[in-house]
Amino acid sequence: MEQINVVIAGPRGRMGKEAVELVQDTPQFALMSVIDHKGEANVDVPVFKDIKECFESSIPHVLIDLTTPEVGYHHTKTALEYGVRPVVGTTGFTQEELIELRQLAESKGLGCIIAPNFAIGAVLMMKFSQMAAKYFEDIEIIELHHDQKLDAPSGTAVKTAEMIKEVREAKVQGHPDETETLKGARGADIDGMHIHSVRLPGLIAHQQVMFGAEGQTLTIRHDSYNRASFMSGVKVSVETVMKLDTLVYGLENILE
Ligand code: NAP
Repeated sequence: MEQINVVIAGPRGRMGKEAVELVQDTPQFALMSVIDHKGEANVDVPVFKDIKECFESSIPHVLIDLTTPEVGYHHTKTALEYGVRPVVGTTGFTQEELIELRQLAESKGLGCIIAPNFAIGAVLMMKFSQMAAKYFEDIEIIELHHDQKLDAPSGTAVKTAEMIKEVREAKVQGHPDETETLKGARGADIDGMHIHSVRLPGLIAHQQVMFGAEGQTLTIRHDSYNRASFMSGVKVSVETVMKLDTLVYGLENILE
């Protein structure tokens, strides 16, 4: 395999630090530079404050973005405009943004992977939930994350609900006359499924999907206990994005 030159945006962040280590430790990857808006990253490659400045200096094959939703969108779009293939772990993209980015990737004939969860176990949790939803139509999704997370619900929770929507008819759950005496008590609602977001220090990234039916419940749960759990997914995404000519949303769509 030819060497893949990589730029990482967000290298000081919790995910970014792991990604820097991954790229530096993988023989077929080369870290060309990083993008850090404060220019403070402690790495032995050039640090750029701005993505255009970075790409004007040299063009990598792949951009790994692990920043914030607004910045991640801007970085992904800019990368595609410069002919760079984005691998995006940043969460919080809107449907409109995803549609626009897919059109841009296809018009440029470039691969782009946006994965709200790079943990293989989380992808299996989503797939198993989709399987179970064929048989259990009443579903509550509880996602639990560290208290520094900016977006809620998590990208993984929304993605899980979207995958379940493919196999489940929309259904209003609970009592038809149910009212919230405290706003938000029933969580967010996608097609009648409820999503609850827990934020606590000490947590990393966890999700359980609960299914209920007459006389039984089924719970499918995944726990990421550290951020290294996401890196095997980042590695396979960097390799795969080189072979794609469109945008793929979700790691489950590239795993064999
Ligand atoms: P984090 O520790 O807060 O790191 C975010 C990094 O982005 C920080 O270094 C931050 O710098 C930087 N940043 C902020 N604004 C920027 C800008 N304008 N230009 C360049 N960099 C900027 O967050 P994290 O836990 O690493 O998570 C990063 C993203 O990945 C989040 O969207 C999170 O939800 C997502 N995530 C995805 C997965 C997955 O598997 N896909 C797993 C975990 C997390 P400052 O410190 O100066 O603000």
